[in-house]
Amino acid sequence: MNSFIESQDTEVFEALKKEDERQESSLELIASENFVSRAVLEAYHSSLTNKYAEGYPGKRYYNGCENADTIEQLAIDRAKQMFGSTYANVQPHSGAQANMAVFLACLNPGDTFMGMNLAHGGHLTHGSPVNFSGRTYKVVSYGVRQDNHRIDYEEVEKLAKANKPKLIVVGGSAYPRIIDFNRFGEIAKSVDAKLLADVAHISGLIVAGLHPSPIGICDFVTTTTHKTLRGPRGGIILSQSENEKILNSRVFPGVQGGPLMHVIAAKAVAFKEALQPSFKEYIARVIENANTLSEVFLKRGYRVISGGTDNHLVLVDVSVKGITGLDAANKLDEAHITVNKNGIPFDEKPPAVTSGIRLGSPALTTRGFGKLEFERVGQLICDLLDNLSDESTKIKVKQGVKELTDKYPMAHFKL
Ligand SMILES: *Cc1c(COP(=O)(O)O)cnc(C)c1O
Repeated sequence: MNSFIESQDTEVFEALKKEDERQESSLELIASENFVSRAVLEAYHSSLTNKYAEGYPGKRYYNGCENADTIEQLAIDRAKQMFGSTYANVQPHSGAQANMAVFLACLNPGDTFMGMNLAHGGHLTHGSPVNFSGRTYKVVSYGVRQDNHRIDYEEVEKLAKANKPKLIVVGGSAYPRIIDFNRFGEIAKSVDAKLLADVAHISGLIVAGLHPSPIGICDFVTTTTHKTLRGPRGGIILSQSENEKILNSRVFPGVQGGPLMHVIAAKAVAFKEALQPSFKEYIARVIENANTLSEVFLKRGYRVISGGTDNHLVLVDVSVKGITGLDAANKLDEAHITVNKNGIPFDEKPPAVTSGIRLGSPALTTRGFGKLEFERVGQLICDLLDNLSDESTKIKVKQGVKELTDKYPMAHFKL
């Protein structure tokens, strides 16, 4: 890291340098993470961080917003083009805030909505009692079937008929299978509920045309921009133009003040990248690589939730080897393999321990890893987990990690 910070603030500099080194030397398998391009990083680092631009392009509360307007309009137009929607709001600071704005547009405090159970792969903002969604509204949760770990669409329908929610939320953070948006559309229509697809994890697959799109079926679509979409940290909302007024006002001033214009610039750059044919090729590799990982776990005697994956993530039950998700994730971390512990459907262990780990292919695929490398990554993980108390295995696995990370340096992801 070649940096002016070094001369100004050594404490922050040292930690930033170590973070660069950590990313360079570890296998990043957290399913919600990715590596942005140099162009995205440069936009993120721009002087737009200095600018206040409350309002929307052409309708700002501050002066000096002409360049901010140009950039936000580019981001909006590209977002609409990516998804084929007639409305986009690119201001949400995060996926959670995008959801909050949609909730504010659809619900009053105390109203009922339905979302997927966090323990079955949903997200905190889909009704967890510790989140605003669970604290403000009445939540009815649905889950996956015990026999195949697919969303229990019949249960969704029954619960919707019985509870008449105003809003149904579909989407999750640890669901490895294709989501049937049409089925949700029929259910929502039959009870006159609005439908929100939160595609935070799979938006890159949707943009690439490698997962069915919720556009045209769901009233609202939210996504993060930093997961498979490979942009800066943030959120966006997509919808039909008839919802423009209410959604714009729920984002600002509803839940936010000034937009992060430097982040919006980085979103615009990332969206341009996602519109290139090479992005589709990237996502195809992401899916292939997740599948390769899943195959290794199955061959090595692990239980893969739902029996495999259709997307970028794999949820593995490590309890069949007598270990917890917590232990597995921590031991892997010591060998520079980064995953997260994750509850599995019908988990018997508490959320702080869990029986599973979640792994994703987006980041390492960006780094250049292909089928052979993912095969090796899977073998290294299984070698370690199968021999947790053996020091010589740990040394061998670390060596394997180093060979892989040395082969794919990260210099071209830096400014
Ligand atoms: C990651 C995620 C979010 C929240 O994103 P943040 O940017 O962390 O707030 C929302 N919904 C789902 C399904 C997610 O996976």
